[in-house]
Amino acid sequence: MKCGASDCQVHSTAKLAIIDDGTKRFVLCPEHQIEYALALIDERRITSFASQLEEHECEICCSPANIYADDVELYLCRRHLNKLIRHHLNPTEYTILRQNHSEFQLLVGDLYSTGGYALQPIYESGQTG
Ligand SMILES: [Zn+2]
Ligand SMILES: [Zn+2]
Repeated sequence: MKCGASDCQVHSTAKLAIIDDGTKRFVLCPEHQIEYALALIDERRITSFASQLEEHECEICCSPANIYADDVELYLCRRHLNKLIRHHLNPTEYTILRQNHSEFQLLVGDLYSTGGYALQPIYESGQTG
């Protein structure tokens, strides 16, 4: 596997995640996940495959879900997927996901405070904080 963004050479499996939006399935590195979440990347420039997504509900809001998978699989709607990638979940959303996926890498470390407050959200400018 390698990041599906053209010109990107990241192929370290530890960093890559599969995203399946129900239309197509693709692999992205963390940097390109953020560009995807911020709609900064032209999705036509991402190498993609046929979707293998079955019908699921978002784990947070029960809307139709996309899949995000690295070591673990999460089912999230596009809005909550974007918030996850941007480290920008609110405490309620964080708590729900943390209960389901206690070791998930986008929920651990110093991205959130103990109460689930986002400490390093990523905004459109690409800045954190
Ligand atoms: Zn990439
Ligand atoms: Zn949702």
